[in-house]
Amino acid sequence: AAKGDGRDRYALFDPAMYADILREAEERAELERALALEEFVVHYQPIVDLPTSRLIGVEALVRWEHPVRGMLGPGAFIPLAESTGLIVPLGRWVLRQACEQLAAWRTEFDTASGIRVNVNLSARQFQHEGLVEEVAGILRETGVDPHQIVLEITESLLMQDTESTIDTLGRLKALGVRLAIDDFGTGYSSLSYLKRFPVDILKIDRSFVDDIDTVDGDATLAEAVVQLGRALQLQTVAEGIETAEQWSTLQDLGCEYGQGYLFAKPGAASEISSILGGARV
Ligand code: C2E
Ligand code: MG
Ligand code: MG
Ligand code: MG
Repeated sequence: AAKGDGRDRYALFDPAMYADILREAEERAELERALALEEFVVHYQPIVDLPTSRLIGVEALVRWEHPVRGMLGPGAFIPLAESTGLIVPLGRWVLRQACEQLAAWRTEFDTASGIRVNVNLSARQFQHEGLVEEVAGILRETGVDPHQIVLEITESLLMQDTESTIDTLGRLKALGVRLAIDDFGTGYSSLSYLKRFPVDILKIDRSFVDDIDTVDGDATLAEAVVQLGRALQLQTVAEGIETAEQWSTLQDLGCEYGQGYLFAKPGAASEISSILGGARV
């Protein structure tokens, strides 16, 4: 028996592992093909001023128009894009699309001069050496006002190698873009961490907004995050507002901006065009 165990332990070929590797290679190839064929599309979700529910900006959210599987959300392919590194060219494509779209909106609608366009950056993109030059190039080539661009980064990113993170954030800020921390409150950033990074906006994670609607209507955590943002003089945006009750509680707490299905789901650029053209959110 001991001999058998030993042999298993030194097995070099594991059919299950081989199948995994094959599948990942296939999926990677499919994602590469999709990038080359531009099967991706960027949807935009309104971000509103809470007291008036007026549009103040949009968040760019990528989708994959898969020829067989239909429209896929980011959950279906962003993890693979991250593990394969394809998030770098994909993210660059999303940023370019979003900037081109903003430039088009500005040409068509006077109202577009006051909005901001948020774009998500994954940790992998952030660590990519050419990031700052690429962002600068896209801003220059599309001619958008950098102040209208907000880059959303995750809290976990701030927990990594701090020296180079602060350096990259500083160089991005120097381009004129604004920085937001996405899904804020789900990581472990402390006050002292936050003070060291040149961020402008906190996006309060949906889980805190959800808590407002629990049986006892517990808004304690949402309140704490809003107060933290105010103490640090950062703008606060609540994510995932689905009910009128959440909307009103967040206003009572002093949260300035919000985003969620209550106002609008992510949609095609044309839906934002209708709003900019005069329709309310
Ligand atoms: P996120 O950046 O936190 O984006 C907000 C997500 O919450 C979006 O999901 C949006 O559709 C969803 N959402 C908004 N309002 C509500 C609401 O009221 N209720 C609920 N239940 N959900 C709401 P989506 O589009 O599926 O994106 C998921 C995540 O994928 C994003 O989370 C972001 O982390 C990532 N992602 C999306 N596009 C990109 C991209 O271009 N680059 C990178 N790196 N990540 C992206
Ligand atoms: Mg985001
Ligand atoms: Mg978020
Ligand atoms: Mg999220």
